[in-house]
Amino acid sequence: MNNHLYDCIVIGAGPAGLSASLFLARYRRRTLTFHHNSPRNEYAHGIHGLLGHHGIPPAEFLARGRDEVTAHGGLIVESCVTGIEQLSNDHFRIRTGNGDEEHRTFDARRVLLATGLRDLTPDCPGFRDFYGASVHHCPDCDGYECIDQRIAVLGTGTKTVGFALKLLTWTNKLTLINEDPAGLSEDDRAKLAEFDINVRDQRIAKLEGDLRSKQLQRVVFTEGDPLECDALFFNLGTEPASNLHEMLGCKIDESCGLIWVDENRQTSVEGVYAAGDITPHSQLAVVAAAEGAMAAIHIHDSLIPAAQKPN
Ligand SMILES: Cc1cc2nc3c(=O)[nH]c(=O)nc-3n(C[C@H](O)[C@H](O)[C@H](O)COP(=O)(O)OP(=O)(O)OC[C@H]3O[C@@H](n4cnc5c(N)ncnc54)[C@H](O)[C@@H]3O)c2cc1C
Repeated sequence: MNNHLYDCIVIGAGPAGLSASLFLARYRRRTLTFHHNSPRNEYAHGIHGLLGHHGIPPAEFLARGRDEVTAHGGLIVESCVTGIEQLSNDHFRIRTGNGDEEHRTFDARRVLLATGLRDLTPDCPGFRDFYGASVHHCPDCDGYECIDQRIAVLGTGTKTVGFALKLLTWTNKLTLINEDPAGLSEDDRAKLAEFDINVRDQRIAKLEGDLRSKQLQRVVFTEGDPLECDALFFNLGTEPASNLHEMLGCKIDESCGLIWVDENRQTSVEGVYAAGDITPHSQLAVVAAAEGAMAAIHIHDSLIPAAQKPN
């Protein structure tokens, strides 16, 4: 598998990486795809809004994607990429292997970063019992399933006010849990009051509900009455799942802290492309897959010799 100069190494086998790998394999490019089996949506029960696959369990969707890539001759390796360097304009070297794993290097002419994001999640007891079923972070993904439900919103600051207002699309039974009393301004509180969104300035002690159905029933606070609710949405931010882009010196889009890409999904480093959640725009499976396909089209095009192109 090594001792090759691959056409492209794809790092990440979520919707973005797998979609790119499928197209690259169909372009008959020698492609190696790495993942360490921790897609962002591993806790979700089903992927909502993915046309033709609405509600499909994430593990099933990704397994199908991996099968489609390998059926076209693509290679997928489960190993963590721990290092990356640019040897020349047309030559990159990656290093794999974490902890006890064997360390290996692989070379390629192009690299696609599809490493995704990690969500910053609440650390209260009970969170994992309900995450992905009745505790969510994405109104676009799970708002529809909560129509007319009693929703607790966890977060602070003006961003969370916007997040709560967005949920009015599906329900007006909203309570914002603000664990940092200094985090909401008078204007923020006035805006929430305008739409009858209650604020509880309290710290969460635990989440309780039916463990078998993963149905949240209440938020218990360190002091005061519990909040009976049907779902909780949190807005605590995200961070890149890897720092490989930093090792390569890729420019960051300062407005969102994600990897800057041009219209061809190339980063500021020639030969390095990026797609999916790690780049700006909507964080949805369908968008990540589309961006992966776009990156593959341009990676393939960049590998076609100039002599083979029209004058
Ligand atoms: C709980 C939850 C529910 C969601 N629900 C929905 C939904 O209903 N509908 C929807 O459209 N979207 C949903 N999303 C969002 C959706 O999952 C993401 O937009 C999508 O997964 C992004 O795809 P991606 O390929 O960019 O990244 P990811 O799916 O996160 O994949 C990243 C890949 O990179 C790999 N990786 C990272 N670092 C390394 C490394 N150093 N070495 C090797 N491999 C590495 C990982 O192993 C993984 O394969 C949900 C997200 C969450 C967290």
